[in-house]
Amino acid sequence: MSDRRDFLKKSALLGFGGLAGSLIGRDRIETIEQLLMRNFDGGKFTLPALPYAYDALEPWIDKQTMEIHHTKHHQAYVDKLNAELEKADPKIISSPFTFENIFNVAGKVSPGLKNNAGGHYNHSLFWQLMKSNPEGKPNLPEGKLAEAINRDFKTFDEFKKEFTEKSTKLFGSGWCWLILQNGKLKTVTTANQDNPAMNIDVEKGKIVLGLDVWEHAYYLKYQNKRADYINNWWNVVNWKKAEELFNS
Ligand code: MN
Repeated sequence: MSDRRDFLKKSALLGFGGLAGSLIGRDRIETIEQLLMRNFDGGKFTLPALPYAYDALEPWIDKQTMEIHHTKHHQAYVDKLNAELEKADPKIISSPFTFENIFNVAGKVSPGLKNNAGGHYNHSLFWQLMKSNPEGKPNLPEGKLAEAINRDFKTFDEFKKEFTEKSTKLFGSGWCWLILQNGKLKTVTTANQDNPAMNIDVEKGKIVLGLDVWEHAYYLKYQNKRADYINNWWNVVNWKKAEELFNS
């Protein structure tokens, strides 16, 4: 009898533990750094899965572009980053290869290491910062991020106009960002795979939103019409994720 009571008690505890565990699991916010380290195995970075299907961002970003962008371009950054880390000067960067550590010495490591670390980080972030919205329903920031955008850009439309203009006009390959710099939101651009978290000659700040404006991000569907790609990208911005980054 007492054994049975113990058994029931333990089952109840296990059951409760399992439920509590899954509740925590569902509500827990994973940082990009945690996502990248979860996809780090045997001393090598691996390609994180997309948080949605390749066709999830249709009709705004097409399936083929997403598939090639993720499995070819992003994968290549991951592979080259691993190769660069293997031959990196241990006096400059050594294990643990966290992105905080790598970005801190981004101005001292080889261009290959900096570019491919940026490529892996920026793309991992970019996938998280988008979500499905096939019908193009109104898609606006909420909460504290929305308040801060109104505070620093007057209105959401003013912010959108500024970000759109900067990303459209960015010469060559690079990224457009919304960052928090000294408590103020700001739109900035970086060349190639640089980003505002790197300790190099760029505008620095906490990344809230990022847009890939390399031709490989849009050329198959939009050809030379980068402005159309950007205009449609606003439909799939994951403002919830952006707010998480803003509040982190
Ligand atoms: Mn890209």
